[in-house]
Amino acid sequence: MLGFEVSAYLVGDLLVDTGFSHVRDRFLKVLEGRRVRAVCCTHNHEDHTGNCGPLAAIHGCPVYVGNHGLRWSEGVRRLKPYRAWFWGSPGWYEAREMPAEVLGTERSLRTLPAPGHSITHVALWEEATGTVFTGDLFIAPGASAVMVQENPYELVASLRRVAALEPRLMLTGHGLAMEDPAPRLRAKAEMIVDTAARAVELHRTGMDDRAIVRTIFPTGNRRDRVIEALTQGEFSRLNFVRAARRHLHDRSTAVLRQ
Ligand SMILES: [Zn+2]
Repeated sequence: MLGFEVSAYLVGDLLVDTGFSHVRDRFLKVLEGRRVRAVCCTHNHEDHTGNCGPLAAIHGCPVYVGNHGLRWSEGVRRLKPYRAWFWGSPGWYEAREMPAEVLGTERSLRTLPAPGHSITHVALWEEATGTVFTGDLFIAPGASAVMVQENPYELVASLRRVAALEPRLMLTGHGLAMEDPAPRLRAKAEMIVDTAARAVELHRTGMDDRAIVRTIFPTGNRRDRVIEALTQGEFSRLNFVRAARRHLHDRSTAVLRQ
């Protein structure tokens, strides 16, 4: 309906993400007869964790989430209407903290913290095949609209951390498969650094946030306002501009300057 794919991956008997609850019946059917030993969530957003509860019940397996104690803190406990309408609610499910390595029967995944888009975000790395599963770490190139809770500086550090693996293949949470993604991950990180710095600098000149948005993102502003309205302000370029300032003095910014 949105023209936006959502991906889940079965890696041996480890399941990376679980889709959204509106496709529950079809998703569970696809996995019928397959063994799932553990569910590894790239992050706790309802389009990736929508079927964790039923899967854990059917397969008697754990569900791993990074920073799981904070998983309801980013607007997921009470979804805004557009999110409930787009994806459906995942409902409550039991989660355990994401281990440093998740062992399947024949394949295993190493986890890297990858916050920025969400505090719960991790990347899952299969060294044997050079494949990294990156959820929503890289949705589109460059700096763009973000969710209200996002931290662009942490995202930069995460993009560089995943790039440092020099993966052969990156599989994202929304249908993108990219070979040799490291240069594009680094390019996105640089673009975010530059755009955030410009946003902060323009604010210092006294420019208001809306004018900054129009200056640093010269095209597509009408579309952005439509999305902003549709998501009740939860997703916009304005959020990027504000987050660039709000998180400027966080510890993650120190990481950025290293
Ligand atoms: Zn997400």
